[in-house]
Amino acid sequence: MLDPRRDGCRIEKTDEAGEPTMRFTVQDLEREAVDFSVELPAGAIDFGEEASLVDNLHADGRAEVLHEQRGPDEIVADIRLRGHFAGEFEVPCARCVEPVRQALAAEFDLLFRPLGVDEAGAERSISTQETEIGYYEKGSMQLEDVLREQVLLALPARTLCQPECKGLCPVCGQNRNESSCGCSERAVDPRWSPLSKLESRS
Ligand SMILES: [Zn+2]
Ligand SMILES: [Zn+2]
Repeated sequence: MLDPRRDGCRIEKTDEAGEPTMRFTVQDLEREAVDFSVELPAGAIDFGEEASLVDNLHADGRAEVLHEQRGPDEIVADIRLRGHFAGEFEVPCARCVEPVRQALAAEFDLLFRPLGVDEAGAERSISTQETEIGYYEKGSMQLEDVLREQVLLALPARTLCQPECKGLCPVCGQNRNESSCGCSERAVDPRWSPLSKLESRS
C-alpha cells in the first residue's frame, strides 16, 4: 500500500464514493521523484461501459519532473510517469454484451506538459517518439486518470465470450446463445444493417 510520507504524494478524498485518490504535484516532484506501488479497489476508477474492475488494480512505477529547455529563458516542468499496471476486468462481449473475464496488463511511459504550454507554437515541441504526450492542469495530476486511460487503451478492439458467439437477435434482443427466439432473419431493423455488415466482414 502507499505511504504518503515515503511516497511524497497527496492522498485526498475527492470523489463521490470517498475513495482515496493519488495525486502527484509538480511541487512535490521537484523535490524528489516518487516511486509508487498501489492497489486500487474495484470502484476506485470508473471505466464506463467498456470495462469493470473485478479485483484490485495493481499499479507501480515512478513519477518525476523533467525540465525541458525551450529557449534561453524558458524551462518547462514536465511530469514523466513510467510504470506498469495489472488487473482482472470484465469486458462486455462485442456481440451479446455478456461480461467476459479478461486479465489486462501493460507498461506505460508518459510525458505530461503543463496545459497550454504548447499553444504558442507546436514547432517548438521536442520530439519524443517513444513517449506519449499528455497535459496536466493546475500543477498536478491524478494517477487514477492516467490508469483509466491506459486500461482503456489496453482493451482489445473486440472481445467475444466465445468465438462462435451468436450474439443478440436484432429483432427482439434475445441472447441467441441461450435460446433461439424464432424471429425471422429477414425482419432485420434497417438501423441494424450497418452492424450486420460489420459482423460479416470479421
Ligand atoms: Zn457473446
Ligand atoms: Zn428474436
